[in-house]
Amino acid sequence: MNIHEYQAKALLREFGAPVGRGVVAFNAEEAWKAAEELGGPLWVVKSQIHAGGRGKGKFKEAAAGEKGGVRLAKSVEEVAEFATQMLGNTLVTHQTGPVGKQVNRVYIEDGSDIKNELYMSLLVDRATSRISYVVSTEGGMDIEEVAASTPEKILSFSVDPASGIQPFHGRKIAFALGLQGAQIKQCVKLVDTLYRLFIEKDCDMVEINPLIIDGEDNLKCLDCKMSFDGNAMYRHPELADLRDETEEDAKELAASKYDLNYIALDGEIGCMVNGAGLAMATMDIIKLYGSEPANFLDVGGGATKEKVTEAFKIITSDDKVKGILVNIFGGIMRCDIIAEGIIAAVKEVGLKVPLVVRLEGTNVELGKEIISNSGLNVIAGDNLADAAEKIVKAVKELA
Ligand code: GDP
Ligand code: MG
Repeated sequence: MNIHEYQAKALLREFGAPVGRGVVAFNAEEAWKAAEELGGPLWVVKSQIHAGGRGKGKFKEAAAGEKGGVRLAKSVEEVAEFATQMLGNTLVTHQTGPVGKQVNRVYIEDGSDIKNELYMSLLVDRATSRISYVVSTEGGMDIEEVAASTPEKILSFSVDPASGIQPFHGRKIAFALGLQGAQIKQCVKLVDTLYRLFIEKDCDMVEINPLIIDGEDNLKCLDCKMSFDGNAMYRHPELADLRDETEEDAKELAASKYDLNYIALDGEIGCMVNGAGLAMATMDIIKLYGSEPANFLDVGGGATKEKVTEAFKIITSDDKVKGILVNIFGGIMRCDIIAEGIIAAVKEVGLKVPLVVRLEGTNVELGKEIISNSGLNVIAGDNLADAAEKIVKAVKELA
């Protein structure tokens, strides 16, 4: 689960990390009030969307100008003006894709002087099974470019979970960042604070870019992206309120309510599969036969008729879907139950595109019989390859 920058900064503040003062605003009037409250003389107006690259982003609407999603304002009037230009408009950044994201909130922050922009992030390194810090002296809006052209300027440090975070980690990072004097102590404290936050809140990723040295030579977190492990949300009721459902894909949201593992993709073949491994294999074989999957969907091992129906609704509500491939292995689940679920779903939500069903496993003959006796226009697939070939062919014939 992702959260907004202003929410991430509130958590940083709560744990004791250095962040500036700021106020979130949902309309220009609130932005005006926030600016008055903060006092100036410099403010930053920041579009709040679940994507980075806002500073270099561009709004789709001409009225919002081409000035980007993060702007420095020199008066209360300017804060309100920029907030008006951003709110309700669509910001396109290298992370949003061409459709962009609508800005529904802005964060008004007390402006900082910047002497230097650094980079610091924490993530779970799956190769070492440890939490790693990734740091660079070249922070700011071009970090992707730094990573691509001068990867030696990006350093990483991992923490042994048995020892936990130690002051030497902080000192190593401080030296890697070229910090001096009081900044070294501040860095040791920040490294410790971020580790505690990461563990206590079950984060996936915390990225501070830029981490700055401000006008008074102090370290400060100027931007923050934070995400949490979705599987740990049950033990963080306090984080549930931070979820902004308007930022999420509507189909993924519906799927999560029914406990379906669904990820929207760009292709044309909707997939309904049980088991993540089988779902991956199904996507691969669709590509092998010359098409692209429209989604990843794992209905889980114990899918009920209701779950299958919901999965169908989600797949068919996607305009990009030109054909559906159901690939189910009945292990714990019986194929006849699946077949009944599929038929019930098709009857309920209708079927406007070709459907290929491949069943295998317990009671497979009965399942196939139920489908062929249903009178519905369902194409049977004999095995994974045959099913993929049939659905790709059916879609190509209609195109
Ligand atoms: P991002 O583009 O989505 O990563 O948004 P950031 O919050 O990182 O802001 C983009 C850039 O705006 C930063 O790299 C800074 O150069 C600049 N910026 C943000 N806040 C301030 C501020 O308080 N003062 C100044 N001078 N620049 C800022
Ligand atoms: Mg940034």
